[in-house]
Amino acid sequence: MPRFPGVDYMHFDSLLTEEELLVRTTARRFVDETAQPLMRDAFNHATFPTQLIPEMASLGFFGANLEGYGCAGMNNIEYGLLMQELERADSGLRSFVSVQGALVMFPIHAYGSPEQKQHWLPKLQAGQAIGCFGLTEPGFGSNPSGMLTKAELHGDCWILNGEKTWITNGSIADIAIVWARTPQGIQGFLVEKGTPGYSVADLHGKLSMRASITSSLHFANCAIPKCNALPQAKGLKAALGCLSQARFGIGWGVLGAAMDCYETARAYVTTRRQFDDKPLAGHQLVQEKLAWMITEITKGQLLALHAAKLKDAGKLDAAHISMLKRNNVAIALECARLSRDLLGANGIMDDYPIMRHMCNLETVKTYEGTDHIHTLVIGERVTGIAAYR
Ligand SMILES: Cc1cc2nc3c(=O)[nH]c(=O)nc-3n(C[C@H](O)[C@H](O)[C@H](O)COP(=O)(O)OP(=O)(O)OC[C@H]3O[C@@H](n4cnc5c(N)ncnc54)[C@H](O)[C@@H]3O)c2cc1C
Repeated sequence: MPRFPGVDYMHFDSLLTEEELLVRTTARRFVDETAQPLMRDAFNHATFPTQLIPEMASLGFFGANLEGYGCAGMNNIEYGLLMQELERADSGLRSFVSVQGALVMFPIHAYGSPEQKQHWLPKLQAGQAIGCFGLTEPGFGSNPSGMLTKAELHGDCWILNGEKTWITNGSIADIAIVWARTPQGIQGFLVEKGTPGYSVADLHGKLSMRASITSSLHFANCAIPKCNALPQAKGLKAALGCLSQARFGIGWGVLGAAMDCYETARAYVTTRRQFDDKPLAGHQLVQEKLAWMITEITKGQLLALHAAKLKDAGKLDAAHISMLKRNNVAIALECARLSRDLLGANGIMDDYPIMRHMCNLETVKTYEGTDHIHTLVIGERVTGIAAYR
């Protein structure tokens, strides 16, 4: 498989340190040599390539921007570049790593007790345990504050009742971070696989994110030990804090999908000919599409880099992340559509990654806050008026 040449129109790499470039080189090699060759079949057969888990763990991909417990302690530029390369392979692969790190390890790291951290984080980092994050419910997606899942304290146990759906990695997870309503407010819990009253069913028939497992979690008088509540995971704000971590990764990740589409189309039109001797790339309408894509990818890279610097400085807030996620997903989706067009009929074939990226990006537009919801977050920031209701 040929090595990905990278997309760097404006000396973006000159803004990166040697360590940051090294992380990207490592991730790029893993994607080109090991992951990329598996993703087409994984997508077609609707399976996640679990055989990649040990190598991703040994390369430090899980919880990569966390400190301690065996985590790589990457800065947020390194972490972002990692997400970019993984999503260049497939959004499902990046989702797996995002969920494990940002939605499972992060809440345990940020909100867990010393015992919970010591028990779970080394295993999750090593890929010996897999996690999932249960916030969405059948009736509550964009508005998780309406959740119906309940947890009540009875003696030494919390009793959970309710349902979570659209949960990435649900059926392969050893541990679920579950958000439920208690008399004191929303609270995050650790629910272990095999707990009586906890059952999981996979969702089938997805035409997007096929190389990713998506499940529903059911809780029927599911009793978990009192000590499985995450002590600091109190209120919806705690759950949204995890989503901010994941959305930041998405803002970088989708650039990888956009780059793969752009580079596939650029290479295709430089050799494909119609009407005359010159390649398609010699026509103005074709160049206009390439010019749009490279400009938007370059702007997206700079936005992501600035966001990472702000994050490292502790200055990145949720409304900043909304702009990053919303913008970069939108331009990635448009890059996929334009690239598909430039390949003509070939663009719909799975010989090329474009259609797979396009289908995946429809999910990425929706999960972790829809395009509309991030628009409203930005609108609220600039007007002071919340327009969600
Ligand atoms: C493949 C996949 C994996 C997922 N993984 C997870 C996971 O691991 N854990 C988890 O908890 N969830 C997960 N989700 C769920 C995801 O976060 C939700 O789908 C998302 O929050 C949107 O919720 P919804 O699908 O119920 O859409 P809805 O909230 O019903 O929205 C439908 C439409 O209405 C619009 N809308 C809603 N409210 C407003 C408003 N106030 N103003 C304007 N427009 C509005 C939306 O923007 C959207 O266009 C996943 C979803 C998918 C598809």
